[in-house]
Formats: sequence, C-alpha cells, structure tokens
Amino acid sequence: MAWRCSGSSNKELVDKLWQAGLLTSLRLREAMESVDRANYLAPSMAASAYTDSPQSIGHGATISAPHMHAAACQHLLDFLQPGMRVLDVGSGSGYLVAVMSALVHDGAVVGMEHIAPLSRLAKDNLQRDGRAGLMQDGRVELVCGDGRKGYPPRAPYDAIHVGAAAPEVPSALVEQLKAPGRMFIPVGTKDQSVYQIDKDAEGKVTMTALFGVRYVPLTDAP
Ligand code: SAH
Repeated sequence: MAWRCSGSSNKELVDKLWQAGLLTSLRLREAMESVDRANYLAPSMAASAYTDSPQSIGHGATISAPHMHAAACQHLLDFLQPGMRVLDVGSGSGYLVAVMSALVHDGAVVGMEHIAPLSRLAKDNLQRDGRAGLMQDGRVELVCGDGRKGYPPRAPYDAIHVGAAAPEVPSALVEQLKAPGRMFIPVGTKDQSVYQIDKDAEGKVTMTALFGVRYVPLTDAP
C-alpha cells in the first residue's frame, strides 16, 4: 500500500487518505478527523504527526501508519457500528482505540497492551485528546496484559483488531469473537499477511487473506 498521504494537519492527512481511496466511509472519515494523531505521539515528534508512516512511541513499539489504521477500520467497519463492543490487541499509543470508540459511540472498546508504561501512555494520550470521560464511564477500558488471551470479562466482541503479528491465530481470540463478528489480524513470522476472520451467526469461522504487511510481532511481555 502506497505511503502517499502525508499532510500538514490532521484534516489534510485524512483528506489525502480519502482522495487516495484508502478511506471510503464518511463515518470513518469523521471519526479519523475527530482524533488528532498529534496527541498520540510524544510532543518532540509533533513534526511527523501527519506523516503517513509508522513512528516510534518508545519501548520498541510504533504507532502504525495512518493508511494502515484506515485499512483496519475499513475492513472492520460493519462490526464497528454504534453500540458494538471491540477489542484492540496491542493498543500501543491508544490512537486506534480512540478512533474505534468514536465509531461505536455508546458501545465499548477494550485496549490490551502488555507493556505497562505504554498502557499508561495510551491513557495519557486519550486524556490529552479530550477523551478522559470515555475511560471514566467505561466506554474505553485500557488493560495491561497478554492480548493473545483476549479479555474474557467483556467478551464476546463484535470486532477484534490485532496490531501485532501472531505466528498463528490465538484460539482465545477466535473464541471471544461474537457470532457474527470479525477479526483483523496480521499472521506470520517472516512473510506476514493480514487476515480477516469472520464468524457467522451459526459460529462458522472463515479466514480470508487480505494483503501482505510488516508488523512487529506479538510477543511475551518483556
Ligand atoms: N496499534 C497501536 C500499536 C501497534 S505496535 C498503535 O498504532 O499505536 C504493536 C503493539 O503491540 C506494541 O505496543 C506492543 O507492545 C504490543 N504487543 C506485542 N505483543 C503483545 C501481547 N502479547 N499482548 C499485548 N500487547 C502486545
């Protein structure tokens, strides 16, 4: 996927994703406009906040590129309807938690991150972005733990986004997917592809390869 959508403001970045056809939903466009990517990077990185590339958020982690965030939400969109429940595994900066929360409104988004300082960073970032209320009333919950096990207390989830590559699909995540529900997950070690995993209303699971990617791996906590 081309990295061609950099802008000089959040609005311009989102406009370029739209013009490039990487964003096709008005609802998603509005959600991405409402979340200022600069609030999910260290202030010292502000100059690259609207660049269409991944950037370091410390602890060996990166905030994914805007076109990847857009692609993930586009693929999950039918399962990011108002009132729905979402799990974001490897929530890192908290950016995608904020965007998905803007899509599900009074639904809920759980962000799981196994590096404690990053889990705290996501909370600070959401606060900086004016979203502290979401955490206070439970519409957003940031949990520090191994995302490969999912988060049973709020399962099942209409949508599960996984932001790091797994050697194989963790079975706990498939179990915690609602019927119907959809997961977006990069799979593989050297060669990785993103898979869309659909569970239908009867519980039947199908896996569709979407495109090749390079994500950091899902790992044991350091
Ligand atoms: N989507 C996020 C972060 C992507 S980087 C963003 O755009 O900001 C992937 C994240 O997955 C990192 O923060 C890393 O610490 C986390 N991670 C890796 N293995 C994990 C695991 N087993 N459980 C939870 N988080 C994990």
